[in-house]
Amino acid sequence: MTQEKMNFIDRELQELKDEGLYKDIKTLEGAQGAWVQIKGEKVLNFCSNNYLGFAADSRIKEATKKAIDKYGVGPGAVRTIAGTMTIHKELEEELARFKGVEATLVLQSGFMANLAAIPALADKGDTIISDELNHASIIDGSRLSRANKKVYPHNDMEGLEKVLKETPEGKKLIITDGVFSMDGDIAPLPGIVELAEKYGAMTFVDDAHGEGVVGRDGRGIVDHFNLHGRVDVEVGTFSKALGVMGGVIAGSKKLVEYLVQKARPFTFSSALTVPDTAATLEAVRILSESGELVEKLWDNARYFQEGIKEIGLDTGVTETPITPVMIGEAHQAAEFSKKLLEEKIFAQSIGFPLVPRGKARIRVMISATHSKSDLDFALDKFRKIGKELKLV
Ligand SMILES: *Cc1c(COP(=O)(O)O)cnc(C)c1O
Repeated sequence: MTQEKMNFIDRELQELKDEGLYKDIKTLEGAQGAWVQIKGEKVLNFCSNNYLGFAADSRIKEATKKAIDKYGVGPGAVRTIAGTMTIHKELEEELARFKGVEATLVLQSGFMANLAAIPALADKGDTIISDELNHASIIDGSRLSRANKKVYPHNDMEGLEKVLKETPEGKKLIITDGVFSMDGDIAPLPGIVELAEKYGAMTFVDDAHGEGVVGRDGRGIVDHFNLHGRVDVEVGTFSKALGVMGGVIAGSKKLVEYLVQKARPFTFSSALTVPDTAATLEAVRILSESGELVEKLWDNARYFQEGIKEIGLDTGVTETPITPVMIGEAHQAAEFSKKLLEEKIFAQSIGFPLVPRGKARIRVMISATHSKSDLDFALDKFRKIGKELKLV
């Protein structure tokens, strides 16, 4: 008998395929790195957020194995019931030192950190004021909060002020990504902080793509703009430059004390696992000691972006190692990506609805693990395919 009640799934999946939005996920036969193996072939990896190579760093693997020997793997339960492990405390203290804040709270992912922090800070009758390009986890966290939502045009301070003026009584929470993941541009945080101070709004920045990348030795966007003490809430992830998995909320001691009591993903979902915690702790320690890998990342990014421009292709408005190579129409970007893979380069095409129509691109994620010869190899192929597709 057919399960008619489930037929909507076939319809919806077919719709995604018809629109070219169906996601086909590649299987990687090994660790993350400059090169990865797909279907037995080594391909140059431009698809990961493993900015500094920490996802398979030998020092981090060693530290993690030691921690497993001492603490096991699982946290037992939520921390409010099973207790906090010493290693969670160590990570929270190390992150607070690194970011220059009073306190931090570690969550299971960056996505979860937003679901934890936003509903705890804004409720019915309050207003969340959000950049139009903010990450999905900010949008979902805002929905969970039941607060009013207002969106301002991307990075537009006049637009933000207009919204602030129109916002009624109640708490106001301005939320922005620190670095925007599709274009690589940086939020104008000094302007946001000034407006927030003028209108009595709280400030909240999600620094997922900024940690380990911008600021002194990768200390993040607040450090980049020297705004220590003037941003109320910082959210971060361990899954990008730190190479692992997990999330963090950073701010004042009072903020963290409050979130421990109130944030539902903290009180109703178990703590970060021991391996994730230990690996992240070692990653932060390495970064605290040396900015060498961060420098290498930026060197690589500058080198590749210059090379792409010399070919005659455009890298959009990026200010970071996120490198969009602008193509135009979605089908052409998809064709470009397919040809790149034939040439042993793994780089995703990104089209509508992730970016506006006509602004499809190849999104190249540069890493400190790439060598100059890797980048030269890639530039050569970008030139070749650009010519084939008559883009240059
Ligand atoms: C990647 C990302 C997240 C999600 O982080 P995870 O730790 O992978 O869940 C959240 N916010 C922003 C802005 C991101 O770029």
